Amino acid sequence: MRHGRKSKTKRFNGYKQHIANDLDTELILACSITPANRPEGEGAAGLKEDLSRSPRRADIGEVYVDRAYVDSKLIESAEENGATVLCKPRNATNGSLFSKSDFKMNFRLLTITCPAGQTQKLTSGGLVQFNAATCGPCPLRARCTKAANDAGRTVKIADDEQRQQRFRRLVQTASGRDALRKRVHVEHRLAHLAAKQGPRARYRGARRNLFDLRRYAAFLNLEVIERRGRTAMAA
Ligand code: SF4
Repeated sequence: MRHGRKSKTKRFNGYKQHIANDLDTELILACSITPANRPEGEGAAGLKEDLSRSPRRADIGEVYVDRAYVDSKLIESAEENGATVLCKPRNATNGSLFSKSDFKMNFRLLTITCPAGQTQKLTSGGLVQFNAATCGPCPLRARCTKAANDAGRTVKIADDEQRQQRFRRLVQTASGRDALRKRVHVEHRLAHLAAKQGPRARYRGARRNLFDLRRYAAFLNLEVIERRGRTAMAA
C-alpha cells in the first residue's frame, strides 16, 4: 500500500491524480497519475506529455500552477514557449528575522543588497555570505541574524530565485492575488472528478487508474460541451 500525506495529520493511500485544465474552455487537457508516496511534482511529466499532443498547446499564454509543479520540465517548457507562469511563492519567512524578501536582488548585475545597504554577489543555487566585519557592528544585526561570533548573515539563493522573486511581487498586489485565485477552478475540477469517481482507486496499478482518470475527465468534458451548447442555443 502506498501512503501519501495531504498534511501532517491527513494521510491517504493509493494514487495522486493530476490534471491540466483549460480555464477558458473549462476542458481538462491532460491527466496523470502518481503513487501517493511520490512527490506531487512527478505528476508534471505525464501532464507535459499529454499537453504536447493537445491542439491547444500553442495557445497557452498563462499557466496557473501549484507550487509542487513549479520546478518541473512542464513549467520550463511553458516558459520557453512564451507562457507566463503564475504561482504562489515558496515560503521565504525567517522567524522574527529579516526574510529573503527584505533583501533586494538584481539578477542583471547578479547582486543582493541587505536592508543596511551591504551588497554581495549572488549565484543561482549558491549561498551568499555577508561580510562579518560589516555585520558585526551593524545596528540592524539583532533583526537580521543570530549567527555566533559576529559571523555575517547568510542567504541561500534558490535555483529558481528569479522566478520566486516574481511570484513574491505577484502576491504583494491585489491584482496578482486575484490572478492566482483563478487556479481554484482546477481544484474544483479535481473535486468534481473525486465526487464522480468515489473515494477509492478503482483498479490496482497506475496504468489502469490513469485510464480511469482519463475516462472520467472525458465525462466531465462532455458535460461542459453539452452545457455550453445549451447556453449557446438559449442565447
Ligand atoms: S547584519 Fe549584515 S546583512 Fe544584516 S542588515 Fe546588517 S549588514 Fe546587512
